Amino acid sequence: MATGWVWDERYMWHDTGTGAGPLPAGGWIEPMEHIESPSAKRRFANLVAASGLLAQLTTIAARPATRPELLRVHTPEHLERIEREAATGRGDAGDGSSPFGRESWEIAKLAAGGLMAAVEAVHGGAVENAYALIRPPGHHASAHTGWGFCIVNTVAIAARHAQSLGMQRVAILDWDVHHGNGTQDIFWEDPDVLAISIHQDGAYPPGSGAVEETGAGEGAGTTLNVPLPPGSGVGAYDAVMAQVVEPALRRFRPDIVLVASGLDGNGMDPLARQMLHSEGFRMMATRMRDLARELCGGRLVLAHEGGYSPFVVPFCGLAIVEAISGIRTPVEDPFLPAIEGYGQGIRPHQQEAVDRAAANVALIP
Ligand code: ZN
Repeated sequence: MATGWVWDERYMWHDTGTGAGPLPAGGWIEPMEHIESPSAKRRFANLVAASGLLAQLTTIAARPATRPELLRVHTPEHLERIEREAATGRGDAGDGSSPFGRESWEIAKLAAGGLMAAVEAVHGGAVENAYALIRPPGHHASAHTGWGFCIVNTVAIAARHAQSLGMQRVAILDWDVHHGNGTQDIFWEDPDVLAISIHQDGAYPPGSGAVEETGAGEGAGTTLNVPLPPGSGVGAYDAVMAQVVEPALRRFRPDIVLVASGLDGNGMDPLARQMLHSEGFRMMATRMRDLARELCGGRLVLAHEGGYSPFVVPFCGLAIVEAISGIRTPVEDPFLPAIEGYGQGIRPHQQEAVDRAAANVALIP
């Protein structure tokens, strides 16, 4: 069975302007490129092509999401504000650190629509699974505002789209190193969407994503948070997959699995302090592929989120796409030995964090 690939050059034309790290330029901050720039994503796409893998994937054309499709998740006021600001040539998604340009509204719709096209391809059987290398990212956006470089919540829009196609029960695994707070908010009281976030404890947004946050009302138990201490590596993530993600999905029994695939848990990322490398991402992607085959006919769609090391992200991304497609290219990750050398075994305080999260699997109805 084939693996789908969503990519559109226009994703790289989302203009985040100048900044320094996550902050806007100005005052004593000399202007440079905003950190959510095309570099890491473009180089990921380039490596997929250069490795020969692209020719073995099924390319899926992106289309813009329609207003009714966006309204399944977002308020009309939010959509109208973004559209209005984009028309002036400059806007911000909501927090003052998420600038966008004139074309960014169209590009955000194309990102959501590209991901929906991947869901359709998996649903229709054209491909078994898919990776959507979309931009801008989405998982911090809530119903009424964007922030954290996100304009619309692409993975949430894709989940609602899956439901409209008859795949009622949707499991979302967010392995971006930051908390998937927008996704959590949107599905907080929804029993049909299981939202799991693995993130660096307290990294972003501040105070968000505690292990005690498990959903409410009808959705009680269908939010799972796995805040990991800084310095967590492959051993800790392996334990999360075995003790939290796999048992949770088996208990929930999804019709489709979506992954909010941020690659900023890599050991050289400037916006986080975790230690994953390409083989760590390969491990997680392989397990998700196998779990989707066990539970829901292999239906698995990965939506690209963060990841800010322009040199490490391409190798982590390639490993993921190799894993879900079952195709190994000749590429060897030159950064692997250095990150492996950080020490990847699980530490006792990391195991305690995993154990606390694992206890919440029993809350899933
Ligand atoms: Zn992130």
